[in-house]
Amino acid sequence: MDLLLEALHRYYGWDSFRSGQRPVIEALLSGRDCLAVLPTGGGKSLCFQLPALVRQGLVVVISPLVALMDDQVLQLQRRGIAAACLHRGIQPEQRRLIQTQLSAGSLRLLYLAPERLQGEAARDMLSAHAREGRLVALAVDEAHCISAWGHDFRPDYRRLGQLRALCPGVPLVALSATAAPRVRADILRLLGLCKPLIQVSSAQRSNLHYTMRRRPSDPLPDVLEALKHSRGATLIYARTRRSVELLAERLQSQGIQAITYHAGLEVERREEALKHFLEADAPVLVATVAFGMGVDRPDVGLVLHLDLPATPEGYLQESGRAGRDGRPAHCLVLFSPGDRTSLGWAMQSTLRRAAESKAKASDDDVWRVEFSQQQLRRMEAVAEGEICREQALLLSVGELTSPCGRCDRCLADGRAKDWSDRAQELLEVIDAGQGVDIRSLTERLREIDGSEGSWGWLARRLVQEELIRESNDGAQRLSLRDSGRQFLHAPWPLHYAA
Ligand code: ADP
Ligand code: ZN
Repeated sequence: MDLLLEALHRYYGWDSFRSGQRPVIEALLSGRDCLAVLPTGGGKSLCFQLPALVRQGLVVVISPLVALMDDQVLQLQRRGIAAACLHRGIQPEQRRLIQTQLSAGSLRLLYLAPERLQGEAARDMLSAHAREGRLVALAVDEAHCISAWGHDFRPDYRRLGQLRALCPGVPLVALSATAAPRVRADILRLLGLCKPLIQVSSAQRSNLHYTMRRRPSDPLPDVLEALKHSRGATLIYARTRRSVELLAERLQSQGIQAITYHAGLEVERREEALKHFLEADAPVLVATVAFGMGVDRPDVGLVLHLDLPATPEGYLQESGRAGRDGRPAHCLVLFSPGDRTSLGWAMQSTLRRAAESKAKASDDDVWRVEFSQQQLRRMEAVAEGEICREQALLLSVGELTSPCGRCDRCLADGRAKDWSDRAQELLEVIDAGQGVDIRSLTERLREIDGSEGSWGWLARRLVQEELIRESNDGAQRLSLRDSGRQFLHAPWPLHYAA
């Protein structure tokens, strides 16, 4: 048996590597930097843990969340592997114990919050270990947090560029579950990865069944129906704390033991919720997106979003928590066109507040709002678009695949009709009053047409079709593009399944 398999078996009791793990481990052991993009549940942690064990040295891991660190350290300690983490919550006596282990060279994995690197102590420790050759590798987990293009930007991550200079010659591995091409480029550049091995596995998950549909005014019956058909644990995401509480109460009144998780809860309540989710038989957890990073429960049978997710990348990560055990699992999104508008307004109000306090909104704030609007629009295009859900989601992270054959779009009979006549009506109204917003446009069209129609929907389709331009400031102002003018001049067929 080769050395790596032997170590895998000895420390973890497993008999084979998952796809992508071995090349990363081998690269690190040979001193080479790596970028590893492996899907959720793909086994990223092993990639940086095993080198420490094989070399009997130290690997330092930068991780964005305390809960994530604590969890990994606990799992390692259960396997008898010396691991620790340093963050604000660590008591002085624990800290001293870690110091002793570090000096004795007996610690294998040390998890650090990114802000630790601002401190002298951690920096000295790192460079001393690197100088003495005791640092096997550095790992940056959830590396997409470094990119402002990503779905979870953390300014603290921006300072990680200094790792390279602190520990010259120590291989650095950046890991992420989903990273669109430009996020990957940011990771390479900002971390200063040197001739890295790029290990990108497909984010495709052949056991997930995606469904996305309009949210009825009362979503409860849909939620109950989905719960009836699901197995194992259920994760329900809602956008606000209030909607989390509200849905949990309503589920409870239906005899379902739903528990809640959001950033507004006390730490103990959150820990209880996490514990319940990990240990109960078939828990139903209603949460904001604050919940989930690093939560490792294999038998999640349903991930349900009660609102339009904010970005396709974020959605891939959240839905990816379903079916880690490889068995079929469902991912349901209930969305409403109003979701983007309300999210847009929420973002704009942040901007307005910033503007009031600083007299002028910084370019950065403006850019953030515009960027979030674009992201929302991309997600809306997945939800309202014609093509396979999985295909659309994967395209957003730069992966081209065939239709999945499992999602609601793939399974629908796909009766599309030609919308070009109605599109013409709509474009004419925009042409007459450039800069009209979606709401006044639909009102205007209803007046002319006398019908309720699906004007809002059609307007959004035409934005996706790039016949109209929509402002990125959250106000959703519409204007004709050149292609829209050409269409008015000589229309072509537009086949959409409504
Ligand atoms: P990720 O961080 O990529 O989402 P983890 O590192 O948490 O994934 O691993 C996901 C699960 O797979 C964990 O339960 C882990 O114990 C398990 N695992 C990882 N590698 C292997 C392997 N080679 N053989 C069997 N199980 C593995
Ligand atoms: Zn599909």
